[in-house]
Amino acid sequence: MKCALVTGGSRGIGRAVCIRLAQQGYYVLINYKGNEEAAAATLAAVQEAGSAGEVLGFDVANKEQVETVLGGWIERNEDKILEVLVNNAGIKDDVLLMWMKDEQWNNVLNTNLGGFFFVTRLVVNSMLRRRYGRIINVVSLSGLKGMPGQTNYSAAKGGIIAATKALAQEVGKRNITVNAVAPGFIKTDMTAEIDENQFKALIPANRFGTPEEVAHAVGFLATPEASYITGHVLSVNGGLYT
Ligand code: NAP
Repeated sequence: MKCALVTGGSRGIGRAVCIRLAQQGYYVLINYKGNEEAAAATLAAVQEAGSAGEVLGFDVANKEQVETVLGGWIERNEDKILEVLVNNAGIKDDVLLMWMKDEQWNNVLNTNLGGFFFVTRLVVNSMLRRRYGRIINVVSLSGLKGMPGQTNYSAAKGGIIAATKALAQEVGKRNITVNAVAPGFIKTDMTAEIDENQFKALIPANRFGTPEEVAHAVGFLATPEASYITGHVLSVNGGLYT
């Protein structure tokens, strides 16, 4: 059975990606950190989309949890082939650098960048053995451009962009592509406190994007036909950044 793992699949962009990959015929492994109810709602949506899946709770920033929970799942499910990995789990904690506490730097780096590392290291091994894989990292406009008040988040997302390009070169020969999708302002819990009316004039599309619009880009990069696109960063931002 062909499987896709989506980290942070319980809400927002991750949920839309789970539904998209279900529509593309994947059995979806829905990761979440604490919000079990939201993860269960995503699973129901995956089933409604005509596929199947399961929820898997672990903190992507916690190496032991990743190895025990995800590693254990991989060991127990030899019949399920992880073809697609979407590293989507992420947090932000915005403050100017001059006031940033150690824990704000560490939490944002550990979840976004550390989470990418722990999960990808585990999953890429089985992809390498099977000589096929699609890895898609959800980054951000902040990681391309840098945003004031987000030095921690910009550094983490910029780090994933560089890692995307490096890993793409490591695994290209084995039919594994590694790409990133960089959203701009997308309507989710993460941006709930940002006033769309105040910012939309800056965006050529004159609105915030939807999780489904990001999921469409992720779904495209996850197709077998996207086989000659690797090490690429695809912006989904309504024209905000050039
Ligand atoms: P969201 O609505 O806040 O959802 C975050 C998701 O990540 C939830 O499913 C959450 O799980 C999960 N998560 C957080 N920390 C985790 C951890 N340590 N381990 C496992 N799962 C964890 O965020 P979103 O807006 O959909 O963002 C998704 C991704 O897109 C993030 O990487 C974000 O940086 C990126 N992004 C978002 C925007 C935007 O405008 N929204 C723009 C650019 C980039 P629980 O439900 O269990 O808490």
